[in-house]
This record gives sequence, structure tokens and C-alpha cells, in this order.
Amino acid sequence: MGFCFGVRRAVDMMLEASADGHRVTTLGQVVHNPQVVSDLERVGIVVNERRTTEGVSTDTVAITAHGVSESTVETIEERGFGVIDTTCQFVKRSQLAAMHLAEAGFTIIIFGDPDHPEVKGVVGWCRGRGITIPDESLEGLPAYLPSKVGVISQTTHTPERFAKFVANLMEARIDQITELRVVNVLCNATTSQQAATRDLAQEVDLMIVVGGHNSANTCHLADLSKANGVDTHQVERVSEIEDDWFKGHEKVGVTAGASTPDSSIDAVVTRIEAIAAAQA
Ligand code: SF4
Repeated sequence: MGFCFGVRRAVDMMLEASADGHRVTTLGQVVHNPQVVSDLERVGIVVNERRTTEGVSTDTVAITAHGVSESTVETIEERGFGVIDTTCQFVKRSQLAAMHLAEAGFTIIIFGDPDHPEVKGVVGWCRGRGITIPDESLEGLPAYLPSKVGVISQTTHTPERFAKFVANLMEARIDQITELRVVNVLCNATTSQQAATRDLAQEVDLMIVVGGHNSANTCHLADLSKANGVDTHQVERVSEIEDDWFKGHEKVGVTAGASTPDSSIDAVVTRIEAIAAAQA
């Protein structure tokens, strides 16, 4: 548990640049975890919520692990900023897949949340050929699709949902699609944490999921736990935990999203142990 390697790398790169004396502005939140963001702000790193270079007053900008669009990369270069590019390797793979599919004449369907920064960034590598569809129902899919279709997913989706999405797409549009290219850009760190959470859900009767309320991968873990019939609470801070949640439960599981620092997990575990001791 704790930071995935992509988030760990991003945070380390930014702290290192700051320690070397660079004044750094991150284009958007480094991760969807307010505690991590405030830790970075404490050492002087500026967070520009807009994910653009507009209004940036430092000489260096940091691209977060979620990545940015191709046009934002070009703007950074044109304006002469120093760059710390912490785009995660899985997100980079997704961006390159989108670009190569677009260059080969494919329309790219991205299975993901249209408001998520990673997805917005990937759309920006589709050369105007990207369509974002948020769920397996395919709601929002245009009535007409060109014959060459590429499909990629937000990196933090579950393999099961991605497979279902692709199957539904083929079933619904087999009459229009003559060539389908599916590129699996799912993140290993996320899929293994999902599998571990699913296993843990078989053994416990209460699950506490630790991570930002706006963190997509943390929310997926909470959904997985609930789908396994386990009473589940998602908390960002230890102060959100309520003693009553634990009454009548015997075995408590703790899991955490990829952007959750070890310190948050440790604090939650310590609090649960204290509640268990008090209710024993
Ligand atoms: S969750 Fe996966 S894709 Fe996202 S930053 Fe971590 S390793 Fe990269």
C-alpha cells in the first residue's frame, strides 16, 4: 500500500527540484490527495489548479503523473519554461497509443471520465480524433462511427470493466466497424491493488479505503469492496473515521489508493487499533 511508483517518482522529482533551488509550479494537483498537495506547498512548490501555463510566475513547471495534452507540451516549450516531466510511464504509453492510432487514421474511443486530468490529457494526443465515453452503457457514443476504431482506457479502470466496454462496443457497432484496435494501457500497480482488495474483501466484514475522495483509483477500490458485499467506508483523513462504523464488525480490512501516503495509512491503522481496544 501507499504511493504507487508513478506517484512516488513524481513527488520525489518535484521535491528534488525544489531542494535544488528551483521555483516550481505544478500544472494541476500532483495527485488527488489534499495532504500530499499541502506538503508540497509547504516547501514552496506552487500548485496551478488550471493545468496550463497561464498565470505561472516561476521559471520551472512540473507536469504531473497524470500528464498533459500535446498542445500544453508545445506551449511549455514555446514559452521557454524549465520542465520537470513526471508523466507516469503508463499514462505516457496511453498518450503515445492515442497519437499513433490517430496518425494511422483511427478514431480513438477513450473509456474514461471526461473530467479526469489524465483523460483530458490523452484526448489532447488524439489529433482531434478522440471521443470519451464514461461507462459501459456506451451512452454518448455518436450514432455514426468511422470504420477504423481504436479503443484505450483510463489507466486506473478495472480489467473486467474494460473488457466489458470493448465487448459492448463490438456488439453495438459490428455493422460500422471494419477494423478495431484495442490497446491495453491499464496500470499494473492499480490492477494488482484491485486484486488484493478483492481478495481482502473475501476475508473481512468491514473495509476502510484510504485516499482522496476525488481519486479515481481510490473510488474504484471502494466500489470493488462494496461489490463484494462488504460494508465499506472511504476516508481521506483519519478524522473522518467514526467509532460507530466498527460496532458489530469482527474483521476490518484496510486498503489504499495509489496516491495515498504511508503516513495517512499508518494514522488510520493506529486509530482503528485504538477503537478496537476501546470496544473490546
Ligand atoms: S496509479 Fe498507475 S498510472 Fe497512475 S501514477 Fe500510479 S503507476 Fe502511474
